[in-house]
Amino acid sequence: MSRIDLHTHTNFSDGSLSPTALVELAHQKGIKILSITDHDTTEGLPEAMEAIQRLPLELIPGIELSSEFQGQETHILGYFIDLADPQFQARLERLRSTRLDRIHHILDRLHTLHVEITTAEVEHVAGSGTIGRPHIAQVLIEKGHVKGMKEAFERFLGVRGAAYVRRMVPEAAEIITWITDAGGIPILAHPYWEGLNAAETGVSCRILVDQGLRGLEVFYGTFSARQISLNLHLARQFGLLTTGGSDFHGTFKPDISIGTGRGSLNVPSTVMDHLRQAAGR
Ligand code: AMP
Ligand code: ZN
Ligand code: FE
Ligand code: FE
Repeated sequence: MSRIDLHTHTNFSDGSLSPTALVELAHQKGIKILSITDHDTTEGLPEAMEAIQRLPLELIPGIELSSEFQGQETHILGYFIDLADPQFQARLERLRSTRLDRIHHILDRLHTLHVEITTAEVEHVAGSGTIGRPHIAQVLIEKGHVKGMKEAFERFLGVRGAAYVRRMVPEAAEIITWITDAGGIPILAHPYWEGLNAAETGVSCRILVDQGLRGLEVFYGTFSARQISLNLHLARQFGLLTTGGSDFHGTFKPDISIGTGRGSLNVPSTVMDHLRQAAGR
């Protein structure tokens, strides 16, 4: 069983647990090294740091940023960022501001499809955290328009969904720079997310490495053994760091467990040794 989980979300973005509850769950499940990687925000980290004081658990500061790469939404993880960096925080604020616009556009589309939900309902689900599509999905479920998250994304919110709206986000090269400027290590999150094959992912890696990418999220909650071995191959080919995590979101992704993903996730401890070395920690 994996004692390392470097990809989790709290209710400061689209996870269902508070940072304190997440840290306590991680400890219960035997995790020793945890990273919280909320979308576009580090605001959950101070609470988590406070919560780990009482536990034999190490918290790695992290974030997951949305970017655009070759016309696709691409997620970049950042580890060991300096949370207090004012330039970084200002950049995050700008990135988050594009989210509400997009929600309005999606709700307009839903309206034309005779699916009536309001911004207030979505904001209520999101609470004070970064708002996103999973919060719309939750409202769709609660109001009986869909049975679950999967259906919400397939029918409405995903790239092939009827109410999909692209969000304007910076190019991957720029996001990589933001992370590097804040002293962090940029890692490509869940390669193959948008259904790219191995050859296409290899081409993307080559370009992203030239732009400053340092590693690949080789181990992931839903990856098959074959995907992991392809990723390891790519990491070796490009001399990249490897990381891994479940992408735990609590009830927003009910099939993913912390530490184990869909059951077989196992992040090797060498991952942390290399990541620490790279970060000089
Ligand atoms: P947003 O931040 O609004 O772009 O929403 C992106 C988040 O939605 C991802 O990080 C996932 O948590 C979730 N998500 C994206 N696609 C799916 C899907 N097909 N099924 C379930 N959740 C998804
Ligand atoms: Zn998410
Ligand atoms: Fe992601
Ligand atoms: Fe994630």
